[in-house]
Amino acid sequence: MGIYDVTNSGGDKDIETLDLLTSTQIVIHDALKKMGYNEEMFELLKEPLRMSDVRIPVRMDDGSTKIFNGFRAQHNDALGPTMGGVRFHPKVTATEVKALSMWMSMKCGIADLPFGGGKGAILCNPRTMSFGELERLSRGYVRAISQIVGPTKDILAPDMYTNSQIMAWMMDEFSRLRQFDSSGFITGKPLVLGGSEGRERAGAKGVTICIEEAAKKRGIRIKGSRVIVQGFGNAGSYVAKFMHDAGAIVIGISDVYGALYNPDGLNINYLLDRRDSFGTISTLFEWTITNKELLEKECDVLVPAAISDQITAENAYNIKAKIVVEAANGPTSLEATNILTERGILLVPDVLAGAGGVTVSYFEWVQNKQGYYWSEEEVEEKLRDKLVKSFEDIYQLSQTNNVDMRLAAYMIGVKKMADASLYRGWA
Ligand code: NAD
Repeated sequence: MGIYDVTNSGGDKDIETLDLLTSTQIVIHDALKKMGYNEEMFELLKEPLRMSDVRIPVRMDDGSTKIFNGFRAQHNDALGPTMGGVRFHPKVTATEVKALSMWMSMKCGIADLPFGGGKGAILCNPRTMSFGELERLSRGYVRAISQIVGPTKDILAPDMYTNSQIMAWMMDEFSRLRQFDSSGFITGKPLVLGGSEGRERAGAKGVTICIEEAAKKRGIRIKGSRVIVQGFGNAGSYVAKFMHDAGAIVIGISDVYGALYNPDGLNINYLLDRRDSFGTISTLFEWTITNKELLEKECDVLVPAAISDQITAENAYNIKAKIVVEAANGPTSLEATNILTERGILLVPDVLAGAGGVTVSYFEWVQNKQGYYWSEEEVEEKLRDKLVKSFEDIYQLSQTNNVDMRLAAYMIGVKKMADASLYRGWA
């Protein structure tokens, strides 16, 4: 692996454009109201309990010193420590980091993990920085937040433009500060430093498990089903590969420049070999269509795995998939969620489909605590058990309450945190 290999990073490379905080608050509010919690509970959960704003001086290679700004948001720790990724991005905002920490809370609740949500970020452009500068920045961030994080306080993980090497530097810095080995302070580490088997592909595995469960609900056999995946980066390419290996026919894939569509199926292994590290592939072919056209093609399963705001009120009536599984963050607007649900299309929301990564981060933390490591098969089996149960619980709740899967997911995601907060006397 290269020391800084962006193809090994989690999270998307485009900043989420929708007002994440507002849309997350709307669904959390609806979920709490539906379950009979009062407005005090919403006041407690509508923003993170803690938000740290740090400035990190870094010696650059040319001898100058540059100050970088960073954040760490901790949504709610009523259930246990907070957990969530750290992203490196030039345009990340404090509001976005707050919203993402709340999403992490929902994912932890959905997968029934003993955590609240956290999220961190540093405003920087990692593509223009040397390995040495990235290492000094990573270590500086840990020094800046060291008082508020730790294996029993707030656990970090990879996210947009951060990878296992960056996790290793951060873990090393924290261990030096604390003067004992602190592998459980961060997840997504290299295997030799206490990382977990299966962590890198956990996100896409989780999406695939959700596709399988959704297919059962609609009486669709995976073998021979027609699948379209928007985006061919970390998330999309793995999902396409897993579906192809399971016997599905992947009839469409896309990247930022265009889409490839063949109703008889695409040669996924060939496309995986030829794509570049940014998930670009369509530029090699002349017979492309647009992303917009691809989304509206007939298929059994549509997986938006690129960026936010792809299915909106404008195109929701034209979607012909039977199932939509959100691998990306926020690809479907709340309005479009209603339209798809009314049209009988089963929408599996991002907070459920995207819970695979944090679940295996939890497994990594557990393995670090016990000092005993599991095989990849064991990790995958445990991940499957958790997500199948989460899917079923959310599906049943959506049926009995006659609500869409997104609202049902938030209801389950927020419930334990709300109850723990009540017991603690926080609301
Ligand atoms: P990536 O950068 O590796 O790949 C993004 C892909 O989307 C590339 O193929 C890119 O060309 C394409 N793309 C970018 N802009 C586009 C546009 N306007 N239209 C169509 N395609 C476009 O990113 P990634 O790590 O694969 O992440 C993609 C999304 O999936 C993000 O929202 C990320 O948060 C999410 N993600 C989810 C999981 C999960 O567990 N569900 C895991 C990792 C990432």
